[in-house]
Amino acid sequence: MYELHLNHSKLESKAKSNMSAINYSIGITDPLHHYFDITINYQPQSEQFDEIYLPNWIPGSYMIRDFAKHIVELKAFDKNGELQIKPLTKSRFKISHQGQKVEISYKLYAFDLSVRKAYLDQQFGFLNFTSACFTIKGLEQAECLVELTKPEHPLANSWIVATGLKQCHENGEFAWGQYSADNYLALTDYPVLFGDLDIATFEVANVPHHMITVGRHFGSLQRVVKDLKPLCEYHYETFGEFPKEVDRYLFMTMLTDNGFGGLEHLNSTALLASRMDIIGDEDDITDEYQTFLSLCSHEYLHTWNVKQLKPVEFIPYDLDQEVYTTQLWFYEGVTSYLDDLSLVETQTIIPGKYLETLSKVLTRVQRGQGQYRQSVIESSYLTWTKFYQQDHTAPDQIVSYYQKGALIACFADLSIRKQSNHTMTLRDLMKTAWQRFGATGIGTKQEDLESLFHNFMEEAEFQVFKKYLYDTSIIDLTEAFSDFGVELNYCQQTKQNQWFALPKNKDNSSSDSEKEASSYWLGALLSATNNQVIVKQVMENSPAARAGLAVGDQLIALNQIKISNENIEGLLKRITGKSGNLLHYFRKDSLLCAELAIESSPNFVAQLTITSPEKLTKWLPI
Ligand code: ZN
Repeated sequence: MYELHLNHSKLESKAKSNMSAINYSIGITDPLHHYFDITINYQPQSEQFDEIYLPNWIPGSYMIRDFAKHIVELKAFDKNGELQIKPLTKSRFKISHQGQKVEISYKLYAFDLSVRKAYLDQQFGFLNFTSACFTIKGLEQAECLVELTKPEHPLANSWIVATGLKQCHENGEFAWGQYSADNYLALTDYPVLFGDLDIATFEVANVPHHMITVGRHFGSLQRVVKDLKPLCEYHYETFGEFPKEVDRYLFMTMLTDNGFGGLEHLNSTALLASRMDIIGDEDDITDEYQTFLSLCSHEYLHTWNVKQLKPVEFIPYDLDQEVYTTQLWFYEGVTSYLDDLSLVETQTIIPGKYLETLSKVLTRVQRGQGQYRQSVIESSYLTWTKFYQQDHTAPDQIVSYYQKGALIACFADLSIRKQSNHTMTLRDLMKTAWQRFGATGIGTKQEDLESLFHNFMEEAEFQVFKKYLYDTSIIDLTEAFSDFGVELNYCQQTKQNQWFALPKNKDNSSSDSEKEASSYWLGALLSATNNQVIVKQVMENSPAARAGLAVGDQLIALNQIKISNENIEGLLKRITGKSGNLLHYFRKDSLLCAELAIESSPNFVAQLTITSPEKLTKWLPI
């Protein structure tokens, strides 16, 4: 049974200690202006001045975001009046004081509709403390008491609060009032969602779980819970226990027009999804809903795999600057493999649908030059710039440690299953990793992960596995799939899998055969706005690249016929295989001209076909 007031004894014991708590107050005066009003009260332990600072990044999202840039009207006071406060760096400030109790006040501008920062308007509010609350140097271990105050604004009259913070009041669950965290780093791992929340509750191993949404939708949260509960149970069963921090769990979901994202936390996850993704009680699972369930599954698995079991470099997190690790291929790759696998293993989706999903991962890795230029080890290490600051060059310049990491995890899983005569799987390895490095809190080094896989895999297969980690050679799963009754083929892109596609129009959504669509290939992603056909992405070694096309170019004419969204497919089709075609295009205000030779698509689209259902049952339930 969940105990709401378990933190009272802790509060009393803390109050007796000589380290006093830091008191944070989060106010919402006017949601229309997107400002949170924040005050911090504390008793200085130093004699003359304190240094206060805000993180520069949030764990799980490896990019320097400089949260302090959104703070305005930063002031400090004691009982005698205003104190001097001056910046030391972009995120650190020095407060001069006389040892009296200090109050710091400021406003946080919150209009970032993502899971990474903070958002506030008349519809709802969302807050990560990494964005919002300073800590005081030297007092990072002090308990944090947080007062969440109900806005007086009439538009927020019915708002309630969801957070993984410990509740210190008796106003009931999801009510405004005082909450707490054991220390500052813990505080930064408990985001808060405010608004007219929809809540559906279920239990996993007697621990209450809440699916919470804000934002209109047209589906059923009961349906989400029905599908989500088995996924949570699946991951719980992998590890056999919850981390000690988890006595409740919250899926905090912001539903918007077309958002997507998730960020893992100690006992919650913040999610962003499209309101259209949520389906009704009797609806068939759509691709979008399947993706939403995979996202939930992914973030939930992180509760163990990266929030507790984590690289030693993250113990503790240095939120001031970049922290480098080679291990994200494991923490994100294995999580990505198991998030989709959990859907088929719980029979939420059928094996055919799972293989279709996996084939898209294979295609993403296969389609560009990135896999030949970067290993997943390097991709992990350089995530701060290359992965988190992607542009149109990404498919050709980087390999995703999520996608290739998932394929490496798949290779390891199939190897472990085969070599153990189907008595063990990757989930057994995960349980061992948890017991050795997660539950103990000691963290993993790259070599720990490798020796773990070495223990579960035979020598020859382990050497291939290691090559996949460190090399830029192609990952070939043909044999591994074949052992489990699945055939892997690469084919040309078709109408249904246009990775480098023409803009959608009447022509290319007509009843032309898929084969016909694959007979010509530009190798560029185009978009059409106001009947201007604009290049969005160019694949290296493609006809578009050979014609010198670049991102932003506007296609004007082909063989002196004006190009439009309606005719471009027909034009490309008619020049396929012919030489001497003249393409005119604008680059900014310059008219350029090039010869364009259209070819047939290379075979980079993966297809997985079940050849032996009997063998497949050793991997996926049928
Ligand atoms: Zn992840």
